[in-house]
Amino acid sequence: MNIQEIHNLFLKCRSLSIDTRKIEKESMFFAIKGENFDANTFAKEALDLGALYVVIDNESYFIDERTILVNNSLETLQELAKFHRAYLKLPIIALTGSNGKTTTKELINAVLSQKFKTKATIGNLNNHIGVPLTLLSFTKETEIGIVEMGANHKKEIEFLCEIAQPDFGYITNFGKAHLEGFGGVQGVIEGKSEMYQYLSKNNKFAFVNLEDAIQIEKSNSIKSFTFGINKENADLKIKDIKANPFVVIDYNDFTVESHLIGLYNANNINAAAAIGKYFKVDDAAIKHAIENYIPENNRSQLLNKGSNQIILDAYNANPSSMAVAIANFLQLDNNNKIMILGDMFELGDESPQEHKLIVDSVLNQKESFCYLIGKAFYEDKILNDTIKFFETFDAFADYLKTIQFKDNTILIKGSRGMALERTLQYIS
Ligand code: ATP
Ligand code: MG
Repeated sequence: MNIQEIHNLFLKCRSLSIDTRKIEKESMFFAIKGENFDANTFAKEALDLGALYVVIDNESYFIDERTILVNNSLETLQELAKFHRAYLKLPIIALTGSNGKTTTKELINAVLSQKFKTKATIGNLNNHIGVPLTLLSFTKETEIGIVEMGANHKKEIEFLCEIAQPDFGYITNFGKAHLEGFGGVQGVIEGKSEMYQYLSKNNKFAFVNLEDAIQIEKSNSIKSFTFGINKENADLKIKDIKANPFVVIDYNDFTVESHLIGLYNANNINAAAAIGKYFKVDDAAIKHAIENYIPENNRSQLLNKGSNQIILDAYNANPSSMAVAIANFLQLDNNNKIMILGDMFELGDESPQEHKLIVDSVLNQKESFCYLIGKAFYEDKILNDTIKFFETFDAFADYLKTIQFKDNTILIKGSRGMALERTLQYIS
C-alpha cells in the first residue's frame, strides 16, 4: 500500500493513536516500537477497542483486512505526516530553541486563536514522533498550525523541518541545554540553526528577536519580521519591559500585563505579540490573549503557601534557564528570599563546570539564602553561611520537616528528574 492509499484510509478515521491505553473509537493505530515494548503486540487489542485500521511492521501480527503491513511503522508515520501536511496546504509556524518553546507556543496559539482556527502541539509532543502526531491532528478546518520542535542532537531539527515544511520559523534562544547530545554550545547553535537553513533554502520566513545577536547573524539571509527594545528598524517596537514579579510590556500602542514571571518570559511574550502583529490580530485581542494566559505544569508559576510566596519553576532546568531564573529572582524587591535549586541533567562532561558556575553565582550575593539539592551540586559542597547542600532530595525533605518557612519568597528550580515540586508538601 502506498502512502496516498494509507492517507485515504487515515482520512476516514477520527484520530490517530500510538497508545491503546488512550485509543479512541474509529481511529488509526500505529504500532511503534519503543525501547521496552513492541507495539505490534497491541494491534489486536487496538482493533478490539474500536480502531478502524492498524499499521504494523511485523507480519506475524497480521489480523485481517484492517491491518496495514509496512516496513517500518515509525517511518510510515513520518511520511504520512508529511503527506498530510502537503495535502492540507495550511500555513505552519515552527518553533525551536533551548528554552521557552512550549511557553511561546502556547502564547502564540492564544494570540492567533483570537482570529484564526489554530491547532498547536499538544503539551510537549515535540520529537520525531510528537511532530508527526501534531501534524496529523490538523484538519481541513485548521487555518494555522503551530508546531514545537525539540532536539537533543544535531540533524534533528533539519529532519523535523523536512516533515513539517514550515512556512514560518522562530528560534526562542540558543542556550546551554542538552549540551551532552549537541557537543557543546557551538553544537547547540548549529543544531537549532538548521531551522534557519531550511527557511532560507525554501524562501520561507523567520521571526527574529533583535535582542539576540546570534539570531540576527544566523537569520540574515531570510525574509523576516523583527522585534526589539527601542530599535528603530524593528517591525514591532518595544518601549519598555518591567518584571516585579509579573512581566509588563509597553508596545507604544498598547501595554500587556502578563501572568508570567521572569524577564526571560518577555522574549516569549514579544515573539507571540510580533507573530500576532504579522498576522494582523488586533492590538486589543493580542493584549487580551497574553493577559489571560496562565502558565501550568510547574513552569514559572506563582503560588502562595501559608505566609510564603513561591515561584515554582520545577518543570525543568539547564544552565541558561537557571542563570536567568536566579538573576530575575535576585532583582525582586522582596525580603527574606530563599532559593531552592536542584541539579541540572544532561550536561555530559560540562556538568561539573556548569554546576560550579551556579554555585559561584549564588556565593557572590547576599540577597538570598540558597539550598542546593542533588549529587552534582554536592560535588562542590563548601561551608558557607548562606548556602546549604543536600546530596539527595530525601535528605532535604528530612531537613524541611525540622524547619518552618515564614514570610519568605521562595524560588524552586531544578531539572525534571529532581521533581522539586515535592518541596511544596513541606511548606505550610
Ligand atoms: P522542553 O525542552 O522541555 O520542551 P521548552 O523549551 O518547551 O522546554 P518551556 O517549557 O516553555 O521550555 O519552559 C521551561 C523553562 O525554561 C521555564 O520554566 C523557564 O525557566 C525557562 N525559560 C522559558 N523561556 C525562556 C527563555 N526565553 N529564555 C531562557 N529560559 C527560558
Ligand atoms: Mg517544550
